[in-house]
Amino acid sequence: MFQLSPQSFDLVYHSGATEGINTFFKGLSFQYFKDQKKLCFFFSTVDHACVYNLKDSLEVFGHTVEYFGVDATGNFNKDELIKKMLEKKSQGFALALNFTYINNETGIVWPLVLAEEIKKSTGAFVHVDAVQLVGKIKDWKKLAPSLDAYTFSGHKFGSLKGQGFTFIKKHTPIAPLVIGGNQQSGMRAGTENAAAIYSLKLALSEFEESFDSEELKKAKTYIEDSLSHFVGNKGEIVGHKNPNRNLNTIFLLLKGLKSDLVSARFDLLGMDVSTGSACSSGVIKENRILMNMGHSEEDSKSAIRLSFSPFMTRSDAEIYTKKIESALSQLLK
Ligand code: PLP
Repeated sequence: MFQLSPQSFDLVYHSGATEGINTFFKGLSFQYFKDQKKLCFFFSTVDHACVYNLKDSLEVFGHTVEYFGVDATGNFNKDELIKKMLEKKSQGFALALNFTYINNETGIVWPLVLAEEIKKSTGAFVHVDAVQLVGKIKDWKKLAPSLDAYTFSGHKFGSLKGQGFTFIKKHTPIAPLVIGGNQQSGMRAGTENAAAIYSLKLALSEFEESFDSEELKKAKTYIEDSLSHFVGNKGEIVGHKNPNRNLNTIFLLLKGLKSDLVSARFDLLGMDVSTGSACSSGVIKENRILMNMGHSEEDSKSAIRLSFSPFMTRSDAEIYTKKIESALSQLLK
């Protein structure tokens, strides 16, 4: 299904991307520590928390973590990043990069060719966070064989929860995170969850058979155009100007409106939207991704994420849009 050769890649099943990503980066870090060599990891300021928060655990082994930023459209400067990476290489560090193919908050896509160019110029280990890939863009099955690893989470495309997988290039120097028996060639000990693995197969087959990216694109364009018109200057679609975005996420910033208030309106209509996380006192926290794209703290608390079904049709989109507009109409008065 995915276009990677089993001769070149191992497939490791695990409990989901958090574990897969920990396995890749901590595994590299531990192996290099054992070999008394130093790594410099490059993560972006808009990576998922399971990448972003690894810094302390990796630096304990004497390695270094550097963050690279993005602009208001969610893009990073490839040449600047390569320059920084080569500087570290000249100081004796081996290099590792996390490349988030599709951002989970904004839906912004970093074309895979950028990761291939970075790999070619720097020789870094490149891990692709592919959690948001399946059914989110037309070419979701195309993976570049020059890169070192790809991690997926099943529940993002309809399998049972708590099941994911990573393709890891053979002979990548990774010390396993979970030690025990020799399951999965020792890459991840413990008995595999066969039923959940089977559900991955079923969910992926459904996408392979039924996913219609052209129809989804029509649906998204309709929703987005209607919403842009509806909210006018009271809001904006984050990253709207970026031509590389997925087909089913709209991150909507509604100026001056707190996202918890907005989500309560959606709740009343039986619609689920994501907002920034609340801290223990129930206050909405600033959104790291938006802040790192240059938005103010206040604006970063005013965004909601609409993620609709990858099987949405153009006619479903009309009903969906009407519901959104009805949830927002009172608030935008
Ligand atoms: N990476 C991205 C881009 C994600 O969206 C998520 C989950 O939302 C993860 C990693 C972590 O996945 P999981 O919660 O399945 O471990």
